[in-house]
Amino acid sequence: MSNDRAIRRLLAWPRAHLANLPTPLIPAGRLAAELGAADILVKMDAETGFGLGGNKVRKLEFELAPDRVRDKTCLITAGGPQSNHCRVTAAFAARSGLRCILVMQAPEPERPTGNALLHRLFGAEIRTVADREARAPGMAAAAADIERQGGRPLIVPIGASTGLGCLGYAIAALELTEQLDDLGPPPHRTVVFVASSSCGTLAGLALGMSLLGRDDVELVGVSADLRSDELCDRTLQLATEGADLLEWAGPATSTGIVAVDSQVGDGYGIPTDASNEATDLFGRLEGLVLDPTYTAKAGAGMIDWIRERGTSSGERIVFLHTGGHPGLLA
Ligand SMILES: *Cc1c(COP(=O)(O)O)cnc(C)c1O
Repeated sequence: MSNDRAIRRLLAWPRAHLANLPTPLIPAGRLAAELGAADILVKMDAETGFGLGGNKVRKLEFELAPDRVRDKTCLITAGGPQSNHCRVTAAFAARSGLRCILVMQAPEPERPTGNALLHRLFGAEIRTVADREARAPGMAAAAADIERQGGRPLIVPIGASTGLGCLGYAIAALELTEQLDDLGPPPHRTVVFVASSSCGTLAGLALGMSLLGRDDVELVGVSADLRSDELCDRTLQLATEGADLLEWAGPATSTGIVAVDSQVGDGYGIPTDASNEATDLFGRLEGLVLDPTYTAKAGAGMIDWIRERGTSSGERIVFLHTGGHPGLLA
């Protein structure tokens, strides 16, 4: 299939319209001046809006499309007490009058804060399992319980990071390039920084840039937990699954994806000196909130990159703000 036909197929794909789109693309001039960078723009996917927003909204628009949800009575998904994915899924269930069961890999705090508080506010039922490996069997067991009670469950994959979910970020790539092109003649290179974990966001962006043939856009995934080789493999696999859905025979990614794992520190959700500095600089200079698990580490990756290499006047930096605000307040 030609890329035009694949793009038409993408735009016509059934989805729930949950996000406020397009999200703003805003300059971060004070941060750029502090770092000596040519140009930094922030793509505000923190402001997708639905259920307090973030990147999960775009992916869930496809996973929770009307044709997939129509006959269901209960949504089941999994994550940790501070899962942004669980928050948006629970908000969708509330608005749709569906039950929602969240399988949690760690006990909820006694006084829930941040996303854990919002999971309850949106009326989700919480089931705790022993660890990450127990999540998939926990979701299957919950689905079996619902069926025994005569209900019809839908298991929403963790992070909505599937070939289907990543189509939300293929569309985001079209949206972002249109906004960038509206700013005037493009510089020779745009480098996009994005926090990555289950890799659907990065995979979707890579697929979208590939459909557009935009090899002037480089994508840097800053890992929240995985090693860079794992991150690359998973991203390529998801982008290929997304391309298959669109019957797109071209490469699933036109640009080399750069995977950075130097900001993980002691692990998922554990702040580092560099992530604390990023949170401080974004807050103090731009009035922007980063979350400790994802965007603060992506911010640290971007800052480190600029300090190491500098930027030239023909180069533009985009920080994709994937949201996660409630995590800062946990
Ligand atoms: C889930 C999440 C990410 C990571 O996105 P993936 O598609 O799982 O790689 C980044 N930032 C925030 C705030 C998230 O909630």
